Amino acid sequence: MCGPAFLTRAPLFVTIHSLESEVPLNSSRTWKSGEICRIPGLYRCQNCHLAGREFTREFEAGKVFPMCDSCPEKDVTWRLLKPAAVRATA
Ligand SMILES: [Zn+2]
Repeated sequence: MCGPAFLTRAPLFVTIHSLESEVPLNSSRTWKSGEICRIPGLYRCQNCHLAGREFTREFEAGKVFPMCDSCPEKDVTWRLLKPAAVRATA
C-alpha cells in the first residue's frame, strides 16, 4: 500500500512592501495650529516656550491643533514632546 504523501509546502510570503504603514515623521516634530495631529501625545507650545512659559497639552490623532490658550497669537507652533503610549481599548 502506498501511504499518502503529505507535502507540507507552506507558502512563503516575501516581505510585503507597505509604504502606507510608514508615516514619515515631520523632521522637526512641530506642527502649526490648524494642522491635523497625526501622532497622539504630549505637545508643547513653542511660542510659550520661547516666552519662558511651559504650556503643554495632550492631543489625540485626528485632532486639529488649536490655538494656544495662553498665547495672544493666532498661529502657534506645537512641538511633540512625548508620543502617547499605546493604550489597549478596554
Ligand atoms: Zn502658547
